Amino acid sequence: SQITNLKLMFGASGVKANELVTTLSSEATIFDIIQAIIKTKPTEIDSPFSVLDLRVVIDLMNKWTTNLPTVKPFYAVKCNPNISLLSTLASLGSNFDCASKVEIESILSLGVSPERIIYANPCKPESHIKYAASVGVNVTTFDSIGEVEKIKKWHPNCELILRIKPEEESGARFCLGLKYGALLNEVPKLLKAANMAGLKVTGVAFHIGSMGADAQAYRGAILLAKAVFETASQLGMPKMKILDIGGGFSSGSKFDEASLSIRDGIKSYFENEGDLDVIAEPGTYFAETAFTLATKVIGKRVRGELKEYWIDDGIYGTLCMSVYDYFIITCSTLRFDSKHENATYKDTKTYPSTVFGPTCDSTDTVLKKYPLPELEMNDWLVFSNMGAYTTSCATNFNGFSSSAKNTYIAYSS
Ligand code: PLP
Repeated sequence: SQITNLKLMFGASGVKANELVTTLSSEATIFDIIQAIIKTKPTEIDSPFSVLDLRVVIDLMNKWTTNLPTVKPFYAVKCNPNISLLSTLASLGSNFDCASKVEIESILSLGVSPERIIYANPCKPESHIKYAASVGVNVTTFDSIGEVEKIKKWHPNCELILRIKPEEESGARFCLGLKYGALLNEVPKLLKAANMAGLKVTGVAFHIGSMGADAQAYRGAILLAKAVFETASQLGMPKMKILDIGGGFSSGSKFDEASLSIRDGIKSYFENEGDLDVIAEPGTYFAETAFTLATKVIGKRVRGELKEYWIDDGIYGTLCMSVYDYFIITCSTLRFDSKHENATYKDTKTYPSTVFGPTCDSTDTVLKKYPLPELEMNDWLVFSNMGAYTTSCATNFNGFSSSAKNTYIAYSS
């Protein structure tokens, strides 16, 4: 077999990773790795489990540096706070976007210095602001007068980045502009309020929306940010120096399109800006494709042609994104015989199948009319691209856990 020299480590959130298997080659596919895990620990394997492929994370970082060499990534921890992902990104030079005290704590616990953190939540609880001040996290976003007042009170040395609402409808599935971002006509009032409070506004941030956003939206939002830079200088405020282009990136060809739109926007609107710092807050880009989920079939019901199955993860767990109709989930099957060797499906016919999650709620349905061969108990369903807003949004409803604490780490040695 090609599996010769790749290390797998077991990394439970917050727990130091333990080495498990050290025998896979760098060419091993994620399916080779999943099969190796199941074969190596057939009796103890705890399902569901995820595999974090660090080779993917490294490739994504290389791609980022190639496409956007002047844009510093601040990984959005909320997207997936797996500790091995965070420490890998830290060692690859990423900085971090934290949204809360706990996220800041997890990054500082890796030995990352507070200057590498932006507290990118425009509305923060006072106790979290106090905590940020105490550990030296000194840059945050805001979009309201109330936030200026809180920051003046609890963290007067904090630099402010004004979060604006991008104008364009970007087509993103998650439009954050409904909740955050100052409107252009609110900008002068907010800048003056910060100035009056003695706080420094050092830049502008936006977020074009997560997943499926139109790459052209970056260029439009960069133009809007430029208008805010100009407003600040018209008001006689110190020159702004940070342009924060937020998240909304996915990997693949869409990233090339986004990179083009960003480079073009910066060149068109910020070429003469001198010592401008451009930063971004990618979450989905680094997390989505790096994680694969393996779940076990724990129940079966046949109603004529309709085959129904229960698996041990679902919409209250790692597969929470499947509640959204537009979120396309695909899966593959794996079967092992009693000796834990790969077994094939004798009948290649597929049936329109339903796959339920493990909780007692009937909305906990992961797939409907999905073509699958006839499955048996203890077969496996493997779901790719399961890293973005999966384990971080999962609950323990009905006492079932997601794959968060059961994540294997794969990397080439
Ligand atoms: N930055 C902020 C402020 C966010 O709210 C989010 C997502 O909600 C992100 C970055 C990450 O976005 P994405 O996963 O689309 O890259």
